[in-house]
Amino acid sequence: MSHQEVPNALRTLNLIDGQWREASGGAWFDKYEPANGRVMAHIAAGTAADVDAAVAAARRQFDGGEWSTMPGAERGRLMHRLADLLEANADEFVTLLAREGGRVVMEPRMMDIPMAIDTLRYFAGWADKLEGRQIPTAGFMGQPTFNYTVREAIGVAALIVPWNNPMLIGVWKLAPALAAGCTVVIKPSEDAPIGLTRLAGLATEAGFPAGVINVVNGQAEVGQALVSHPGVNKISFTGSTPVGRAIAAVAGPQFKHLTLELGGKAPQIIFEDALLERAIGGVAMGLFANQGQTCAAGTRVLVHRSRYEEVLHALAGAARSLNVGDPLDGHTQMGALINARHADRVKGMIHAAREAGARMFAGDEAVPAEGYFVRPTVFGHVSPDAVIAREEIFGPVGVVMPFDTVDEAVALANDTQYGLSATLWTNSVGQAHSVAARLRVGAVAINGWSPLDARLPWGGGKDSGMGRDLSRVALDAYLEEKVVSLVM
Ligand code: NAD
Repeated sequence: MSHQEVPNALRTLNLIDGQWREASGGAWFDKYEPANGRVMAHIAAGTAADVDAAVAAARRQFDGGEWSTMPGAERGRLMHRLADLLEANADEFVTLLAREGGRVVMEPRMMDIPMAIDTLRYFAGWADKLEGRQIPTAGFMGQPTFNYTVREAIGVAALIVPWNNPMLIGVWKLAPALAAGCTVVIKPSEDAPIGLTRLAGLATEAGFPAGVINVVNGQAEVGQALVSHPGVNKISFTGSTPVGRAIAAVAGPQFKHLTLELGGKAPQIIFEDALLERAIGGVAMGLFANQGQTCAAGTRVLVHRSRYEEVLHALAGAARSLNVGDPLDGHTQMGALINARHADRVKGMIHAAREAGARMFAGDEAVPAEGYFVRPTVFGHVSPDAVIAREEIFGPVGVVMPFDTVDEAVALANDTQYGLSATLWTNSVGQAHSVAARLRVGAVAINGWSPLDARLPWGGGKDSGMGRDLSRVALDAYLEEKVVSLVM
């Protein structure tokens, strides 16, 4: 990889066996800052040899190192210490995450950092509560037995992370893995590796033994090497559906445990009786937060026909009023997309939708000259079969479509390959719960946008993946239950 040193650019290394290391091949790649297009950091371009070294370090700790015998309460104490260090360094992380993601500072400050701290503390509390069960049976061939179960960590976990909430999603995986007693190799996204790698550095300061938390930076090949590595027992992946499918194809025959959090095309349903003054702001947030680069982005706005024109124009007005620009400026409401390629892809999809006849009600306004900006865009009068209404865009683009009956709203909402989340806006409690029951998704938010919390399971079905991050369910995903029977 060609590489030219840029003054003041950060250097992001790999963390293997407690040591910061350059990539084994000595190669680097550049990470560009989304809001201005300039080189922000040089990132070590890890290799399969680095993955080998990281997995070996993780295996040593898991199979016989200090970590393998550490009491759960001590693991929990280290996790609390990491949470405390993140809290103490919150300001640095807010700026780092805003810069590397092109995200308005309010988002990491209000969401990513506090939720990462809370998630670490929530799972730290589980580390000394991995209790088994005593299970009575009729005995074995006439002999009574005494049976109990022990919950044991699965082993070495590969944590493969996307760029949209890179540090937070890393913590969603890291925290249950550590609480369970696994050791980990993290593969941050090549587009946003800086904050998550820095967090791993804080873990070293917190006192985690060398080799418990390893980080290998690099491109997709690093992820591929991890997924196929025989020393890895568990893979937790968040990213796109095609990559999730490729990972499942490799991991399946090796019987690796899998958690897959993939794409989405979430519906936001506005019923006839919704309080619009509240709904419009919430729908806009669900659509445009993080520039629409969230798996739960509510990109399909389904509106009862009696309120359709009103909602379409109000949402377009809200989109046009958003202040797009420098993420570090406190007045900015929307930042930049992650990289030039992705911004071009989103703009290409907007262009293609217009060519195909979709009417654009917001999105034509000017954007800053430098950086990877796309204006919040609203389409109306779009067929549910249109590409723009079906494919995940992962940008600030929504379609507004009408429905006439509740059945039609449910059918439209479920008519997608994805099944991650949905939002309902209604004043009727009965309608809210009956529709929630009929939606084929992993999470339904009523009169608000997907409240994420460490205690609530997060994930979906269909092409949105399998398994859950967060909550007790995520802890279980890093544990096996062993049965011990004493024949008496
Ligand atoms: P991506 O799939 O391109 O990459 C994700 C990670 O996988 C990166 O670290 C990448 O280097 C690595 N990777 C790429 N190819 C690989 C392979 N063959 N084997 C192993 N690893 C590989 O996704 P992205 O563009 O970084 O993130 C955007 C996607 O993530 C969107 O589709 C979004 O919906 C999804 N997402 C889902 C959730 C959720 O909770 N369901 C949350 C956030 C993002």
